[in-house]
Amino acid sequence: MSYINRSTQKHSTRTARAKSKRKAKGVAVTAVALSVVSLTLSGFAVYSYLKQHTASSVVKHSTTAVVSANLAGKNEGTVVQPSTKPGPSTPAETTPPAATPTDSKAANSEPVKQSAVKQPKVIYLTFDDGPSKHTQEIMDILARYQIHGTFFMIGNQLSGHEQTVKDAVEAGNYVGLHSMSHDKKKIYESGNSDNFINEFKQEQKLMAKITGVSPTLIRAPYGSKPEIGEQFRGDIADAGFKMWDWTVDSQDWRSSDNPKRILKEVKRQVHRDTEVILMHEKAQTVEILPEVIEYLQKKGYAFAVYKPNHHVSVNFAKDKRL
Ligand SMILES: [Zn+2]
Repeated sequence: MSYINRSTQKHSTRTARAKSKRKAKGVAVTAVALSVVSLTLSGFAVYSYLKQHTASSVVKHSTTAVVSANLAGKNEGTVVQPSTKPGPSTPAETTPPAATPTDSKAANSEPVKQSAVKQPKVIYLTFDDGPSKHTQEIMDILARYQIHGTFFMIGNQLSGHEQTVKDAVEAGNYVGLHSMSHDKKKIYESGNSDNFINEFKQEQKLMAKITGVSPTLIRAPYGSKPEIGEQFRGDIADAGFKMWDWTVDSQDWRSSDNPKRILKEVKRQVHRDTEVILMHEKAQTVEILPEVIEYLQKKGYAFAVYKPNHHVSVNFAKDKRL
């Protein structure tokens, strides 16, 4: 919701900027025609110009980035929240997903400066089926690029990995829920949502005990399709959860012999302004992850981590309750 506010603010500032620009133009013409008052009017034009640039910098500062942002093609992205690094070199300041259409007119009229303000593209990297022996490796890679990931962990695997899970949260990653058992039979074949929700509630408690944070974002094992129908989704929402599927399936789980295929899948599927990439805690994923990140950076994406206060709805059914 707050994004919408920010977007509106951004848009209205742009409109104001456009207005002030037209005003400046009009003033300039008048200045030529009326040579007597030209000095005064030019002064005003300069004032308008300055005002307009000040406004643009205000927009930059006030548009909160919920991203572990990276400069495209560079490894020096800062974890900003909100961004504290002003100026045109500030990485894509993200109003996460498909919130506002880009004001291309404004973007074109001010070639260099405006490109930095342009709506950024955002990637959420998600890692399922941990914690595992690979969790730490994944976190190390993310830390190297100064970005964060969203993990969906299995309750029955938490025991023995408590410290890693804690570290993941403390490092700024989001640790979400992925059921206790990950057992298709147990969670889907009862005919209703009871077992499913009970497992997630149980895991939520466990996670709160370990990390001090009670996660609300879940990912259904194997995705929500086709097992989870409308009523089932309503039950999940009523239980206080949000549920993420994904927009890009890296198919990493079946590429153990060929990590390059994971990168290929990502390249083939990534095209939206906001993408949620499904990956798993697998050796091949760890191996290819740096290349995946660098590819996405070059494509101009910033990296975001899930924030409950800035929820983005990502489920196959496009169910806004979740
Ligand atoms: Zn899974």
